[in-house]
Amino acid sequence: MPGHTIAEEFPMPTQTINGRSAATFSEFDVINPATGAPFAKAPSASKAQVDEAFEAALAAYPGWRADEGLRRAKLLEASAAIAEAAGELTGILAEESGKTTQFAAFEAPVAAGWLGYYAGLELSREVLQDDEKARVEVVRRPLGVVGAITPWNMPIGLAFFKIAPALRAGNTVVLKPSPFTPLSTLRVGEILRDILPPGVLNIVSGGDDVGRWIVEHPVPRKISFTGSVAGGTAVNVAAAADLKRVTLELGGNDAAILLEDVDLTEIAPGLFWSAFFNNGQACALIKRVYVPRALYADAVEALADVARGTVVGDPADPATQLGPLATLPQFESVSGLVDHALAGGAKAATGGTRIDRPGYFYEPTIVCDIEDGTPLVDEEQFGPALPIIAYDDVDDAVSRVNRSTFGLGGSVWTADVERGQDIAERLDVGTTWINTHASLAPTVPFGGLKHSGLGVENGPWGLYAYTELQAVHVNRGVPGPTAG
Ligand code: NAD
Repeated sequence: MPGHTIAEEFPMPTQTINGRSAATFSEFDVINPATGAPFAKAPSASKAQVDEAFEAALAAYPGWRADEGLRRAKLLEASAAIAEAAGELTGILAEESGKTTQFAAFEAPVAAGWLGYYAGLELSREVLQDDEKARVEVVRRPLGVVGAITPWNMPIGLAFFKIAPALRAGNTVVLKPSPFTPLSTLRVGEILRDILPPGVLNIVSGGDDVGRWIVEHPVPRKISFTGSVAGGTAVNVAAAADLKRVTLELGGNDAAILLEDVDLTEIAPGLFWSAFFNNGQACALIKRVYVPRALYADAVEALADVARGTVVGDPADPATQLGPLATLPQFESVSGLVDHALAGGAKAATGGTRIDRPGYFYEPTIVCDIEDGTPLVDEEQFGPALPIIAYDDVDDAVSRVNRSTFGLGGSVWTADVERGQDIAERLDVGTTWINTHASLAPTVPFGGLKHSGLGVENGPWGLYAYTELQAVHVNRGVPGPTAG
């Protein structure tokens, strides 16, 4: 269209620094994965702007920390504002991530729900001693300024796994979203500008370099990172040089183990959507399925049948169940893993190819006749391609699952819940489910073992992760040192 510019189509949201819109000195394209073409621009933070954001967060910290009542009230106001803006945020998110409306609509309520939950959560003082000699208490104090970094697969929801507990505990925050999906998070910053005191929540955007500046900056006392194992490892190394605390929520390669008593017809849809939610692009989804050999052919066919019946297409069409993958690198990674498996002798029970249209569309794919040792089984595919592996002995299946360097989640599917729980508890993972997968709640701790991360988010444990213990000892005896 002559004279039609990207900026006219989609107004660029700005960064939020010290409660104001920050100037844009440079910008980058944001791609719509459903077309593969740029549809908007996002600002790229300069190093000076990262400094400004941390200065603002540091200046805001004493006032924010001092008034717990204000913090709770502001978190509730922020929750209401996000809930009110849910429709707008869902639209932006759908366009930048390729999510269907159904998956995009999932996130603003998560943000609002997490803010509401943490607003109501108590941070109590523990009294260890209260007698004629002394009163000794343990207090959980905030850490100071927190640097937060998020990935592209669930930008708004995962941001609030960090923002809500960090702010509730009395910290101030500088957050950077993924360069693939910056717009919805920037818009959240704009919405909350009028609610939170200046400097309490700063949102900057840009590429991995901006993330590195955040981690290396001397002001933040903690880095909370969600993303890849490679990114998280780099963050951990850089943070260690300054003894910054970290929470790392990293990749997963969750297994589902089916026992021989399952009713395949009953579980197939739930099992399928526990792997293909958001096109397989979430950390704690089923990434590999272990099936007793006697059930193998039927299980493959049951899952392939659900896959064949799934509507893939334009994410804006309400009839669509799966849209495109969110990024070109992810699309290439998933198709490469499937091509490699098929070239090695595995079979696609359904799918296995790219869809011939603009954008990053891939057929929902069920891969069978595949073994451990194949990258599609051993690595995190993070996309719509699910390998199904046969097993002869459930103890052997458990040890094969546990051989992974990942340890995020896992599930057991069975009619015998007690036996299922016994097996599930033997999985070396942060969360284990029986007859479901990837069910998350603000009250339940979520985190990974091994390379899947360090620490947890959510629940009171997620709040404690933004605090440090301080012992407060009031001597009631003779002034001076006391023993014991
Ligand atoms: P990524 O590691 O490439 O990027 C994540 C974020 O980190 C981005 O904002 C990026 O700009 C920034 N970044 C990258 N390198 C950095 C560095 N050295 N220092 C500072 N910042 C850096 O991850 P991604 O591709 O955006 O996300 C997908 C990954 O996230 C998958 O592995 C997925 O499993 C994982 N994930 C984990 C969870 C969880 O809770 N465990 C949740 C969602 C996604």
